Amino acid sequence: MIYLDSHATTPVDPRVLDAMLPFFVEHFGNASSKNHPFGWKAGKAVEHAREQVAGLIGARFRDVVFTSGATESNNLAIKGLAARAPKDRRRIVTVVTEHRSVLDSCAALERDGFRVTRLGVNRDGDLDLQELADAIGDDTLVVSVMSGNNEIGVLHKVEEIATVAHDRGAIFHCDAVQSAGIIPVNARALGIDLLSLSAHKMYGPKGIGALYVAKAVDLQALIDGGGHERGYRSGTLNVPAIVGFGRAAELCASDMAVESVRLRTLRDRLWKGLSSRIDGVQLNGPKERRLPHNLNVRFDGIHGESLLKAIAGDLAVSSGAACATASAEPSHVLRGIGLTDEQSRASIRFGLSRFTTEQDIDAAATKVADTARQLRGARAAS
Ligand code: PMP
Repeated sequence: MIYLDSHATTPVDPRVLDAMLPFFVEHFGNASSKNHPFGWKAGKAVEHAREQVAGLIGARFRDVVFTSGATESNNLAIKGLAARAPKDRRRIVTVVTEHRSVLDSCAALERDGFRVTRLGVNRDGDLDLQELADAIGDDTLVVSVMSGNNEIGVLHKVEEIATVAHDRGAIFHCDAVQSAGIIPVNARALGIDLLSLSAHKMYGPKGIGALYVAKAVDLQALIDGGGHERGYRSGTLNVPAIVGFGRAAELCASDMAVESVRLRTLRDRLWKGLSSRIDGVQLNGPKERRLPHNLNVRFDGIHGESLLKAIAGDLAVSSGAACATASAEPSHVLRGIGLTDEQSRASIRFGLSRFTTEQDIDAAATKVADTARQLRGARAAS
C-alpha cells in the first residue's frame, strides 16, 4: 500500500515519537504546576517546543499559542478578532477556496451581522490582487487568505496580500497549515499578523496546532478557564503532543532546503509518469506556483469514483480534502477554479511526504494510468 495523501495527514516521524514518549509516563507533570520538579520539567519542555515552533515561522517564541489544531486556530483567529471588532470594522474578506474552518467561521459571523466578501479565483486558483485591494475597505477587520492550498497546491502571494490588507488598516490572517514545514514561511518578514499551524501535516501528532499572534493583535479567547497560553487558550497543556510538535517543526526547518527540492523532483516525476502513460490527463492548479509535494490531476472520460475505488487497495489518495470527501460533496476548491462536478469527481489529489520514494512514485503512476485506461476501455465497450 502506497500512501500519497499527505495533505490529509502525515505519519508521525519516529524521531518525533522518540521525543514524545518520555512525557507520557516518566515526565507526566502538568506544565502549569509551579511547585515541584514534575511541573518544572513539563513546563520547560513546553517552552522549548514553543521556541522550536517559533523558529520554523520566524516568530518570537512568546507569540506562539498552542491549540488543538488548525481548525481551532482558524476559529480563534477569526472569531477572536470579531469579538473585539470596533463598530466600524465589521467586514471580513476571504477567498472561496479557503479551508472549511475559515469559511465556516466567516459564515457563523455573517449570521451575527458581520459582512463577508468571498473572492473568486482564476482557473489556477490564483487571486487577483487588484480585486482583493478593491474588496478591502475602511470597514474591513480582517483579510484571511491561506498560504498554500490543501487541494490544488496553489501558493498565494502572501507578502503582497499582507501589504494590501495593512494599507487599509486591516489585520491579515494566514492559514499556513500546508506550507509551513515544507517551504519557508516567515510570519514577521511576510507581514502576517495571525498564522495557523497544525502538527499532523508536518510529521507531528494529531490534535495539536498553534496560532501565531503578533504582538499588536488583540483577540478574545474562545475557551475560558485557567488563563493558559497568555489567556488565549485555557486548558491543561497536552505536553507530549506539544513536545512532538516542537521536534517536528525543528526537523522540518533543518531538512527543508534539501527536502523541498526532492519533493518537487518526485512530484514532477509523477506528473511525467502519468501524462506519458495515458492521454487526457489534465493538471488542476498552476504549473509553477504550487506546493512542491502537491499534484492534482483529472482524467477526461472517466468516472472518478470508479477510478478511486479501483486503486484503493494499492494507493491511498483522495479526490479532495478529507472534510469534503466526508460530506460526499464535490470539492468546493475544484468548483472554485471552474470545474464541473463530474470533473471534480474525476480528479485525484496526490500528497507526497518525507517517506515517499521514487519506487512509490513509479508504482503509483503505473497503477493509476493502467486503471484509468482499463476503465476508459470498459466505458467505450459498454
Ligand atoms: N487548514 C488547512 C489548509 C488544512 O488543510 C487543514 C487540515 N485539513 C486545516 C486547516 C485543519 O487542520 P486540523 O486538522 O489541525 O484541524
